[in-house]
Amino acid sequence: KAVVLDGKKLAKQLQAECAREVASMTSDGKTAPHLVLVQVGQDPASTIYLRNKTRAANEVGVNSTTHRLAENVTLTELLHLLQSLNDDPAVNGVLVQLPLPPQLEEKVVCNAVHPSKDVDGFHATNIGRFCMDVPCLAPCTALAVGELLRRYDIATFGLNAVVCGRSKNVGLPIALLLHGDGQRQHGLDCTTTICHRYTPPAVLRQHLSNADIVVTAAGVPNLIRGEHLKPGCCVVDVAVNRIKNKDTGRVKLVGDCHFESCVEVAGHISPVPGGVGPLTVAMLMRNTILATKQQRQLT
Ligand code: NAD
Repeated sequence: KAVVLDGKKLAKQLQAECAREVASMTSDGKTAPHLVLVQVGQDPASTIYLRNKTRAANEVGVNSTTHRLAENVTLTELLHLLQSLNDDPAVNGVLVQLPLPPQLEEKVVCNAVHPSKDVDGFHATNIGRFCMDVPCLAPCTALAVGELLRRYDIATFGLNAVVCGRSKNVGLPIALLLHGDGQRQHGLDCTTTICHRYTPPAVLRQHLSNADIVVTAAGVPNLIRGEHLKPGCCVVDVAVNRIKNKDTGRVKLVGDCHFESCVEVAGHISPVPGGVGPLTVAMLMRNTILATKQQRQLT
């Protein structure tokens, strides 16, 4: 049976490390980092994610402020707010919670956060730097996957990895991290295959059968079953799918993997919930501290 990767426990450990860094910053007489969260509308999942981020900030000693904007806010109004946050030296990190309503184009909004305050790592400059293996604020989910593999000592060098999902914010940065050059930056040196919605199921299975590392962020429950996996592989399930029970109306969170069958074949597997999710929040704290330090070196 697979070792279950405990993201919750690891996130606690990472947050304790972040708390120590913030404490040493403030004991030097500097202010704690300040993270600003922006929510548009009242999507219940976004509200939960923002609550988790605020809670983590409190635990680590990062100051946080949340701006709640109406669902029908215009692009001009949102860009105006982001400009004022970019210009405010007392703000170190800015995050706009996705998804956004249709009048707000995600790419335009993500690129309106100054790259030095872009703690989600979604600005084209940061993604470009990440691609080029140079220091940057990298996307938190990719950092979370990397940290999970590293802290559990999972070998990646020269091994085969499959990523399911190619979104610009999640799947693609994970694939960049897995295939990147570890001698230069954060790369894990895998031979990496990216599968997406147009990958035929038979082709996906062929790649999975040969994969030492499987990272899935497709948003498709039961996409991956134990019989598709190479025995002993490591499975990192990034997806968070909400399944509503027709009888009770209760919502259950599941990943893309059929956990019960995968846990029998894999060597390591991350659960949903309690896997990548809490780690992503911890990496946001780390990015906020990093952004703050870099801004202070420049001034
Ligand atoms: P998205 O809808 O933008 O992208 C989904 C991707 O999956 C697309 O690239 C699509 O081509 C691919 N895909 C769809 N069907 C597929 C299939 N059958 N086989 C292979 N690939 C397929 O979603 P996203 O924003 O990238 O998020 C992906 C998942 O990750 C969601 O479940 C989301 O909730 C979760 N997520 C988790 C975290 C975290 O911290 N754990 C953070 C962000 C997103």
